[in-house]
Amino acid sequence: MIMDKVNILGVNVDMVNISEAADKIVSFFEEDRLHSVYTPNSEIIMMAYRDAEFAELLNRADLLTADGIGVVYASKILRKPISERAAGYDIAIKVLEKLKDTEHKLFLLGGKPGIAEEAKRKLEEKYPGIRIVGTHNGYFKPEEESEIIDEINNSGADIVFVCLGAPAQEKWIDRNRDKLKAKVAMGIGGSLDVFAGKVERAPDFWCNMGLEWLYRLIKEPWRIGRMMALPKFGVTVLLKGRRYRENLNSQIKK
Ligand code: UDP
Repeated sequence: MIMDKVNILGVNVDMVNISEAADKIVSFFEEDRLHSVYTPNSEIIMMAYRDAEFAELLNRADLLTADGIGVVYASKILRKPISERAAGYDIAIKVLEKLKDTEHKLFLLGGKPGIAEEAKRKLEEKYPGIRIVGTHNGYFKPEEESEIIDEINNSGADIVFVCLGAPAQEKWIDRNRDKLKAKVAMGIGGSLDVFAGKVERAPDFWCNMGLEWLYRLIKEPWRIGRMMALPKFGVTVLLKGRRYRENLNSQIKK
């Protein structure tokens, strides 16, 4: 599958929908190395816009999907439209549906103590046949990191859901990419909380209207500071996005 990318403020986002992203992830099992999957939203792309090292880290990913309506709109402004939002949680659900009929093993990393275990229980109920071979909470000290890597490697996991929140999870995956024996590591934020039934996802209506951010803001008003990244992102894409792309095109032509 050849995947086209759209350069959004320096971050090369794959133009894939949820189901294409899941197919791509399953194809990663055929190659014996770690593949990283991140789902940047507008806040993360703004972070990368201001931090070249972080932008490079994101661009090293094997799959970068558009999480959030802001990123989808940005792709439209840049005239390389992504067809739908491909959030980590939605991709994870599709991947779980595929995993349940295979031998591939999954490890869950992240969340407060007890969350990953509860997520494991709920997922095993919902996807009979799924092989979840280990869990670990996401509140550990740097000196515990190598022990956790050993635990993941010894579990024989082929895929790890890394749910430490952004940008910690992307940095964690990138930092450990040569140590992990799994074939796929996906940074998928608060998904374990949702799998564990501790946090509710916005109802479909809000998601379909592109208003999940508003739903989350009503439920978790303390997110307002983080959410201010969205209008800044929109303005920056409008002001710089096209110029950025034109510069890039002229560099390619030279
Ligand atoms: N988390 C964690 N370790 C930390 C900080 C956060 O495991 O040191 C978890 C937290 O419990 C939550 C997830 O990371 O489950 C972050 O969720 P959020 O919805 O904030 O994700 P984001 O929107 O940042 O992707």
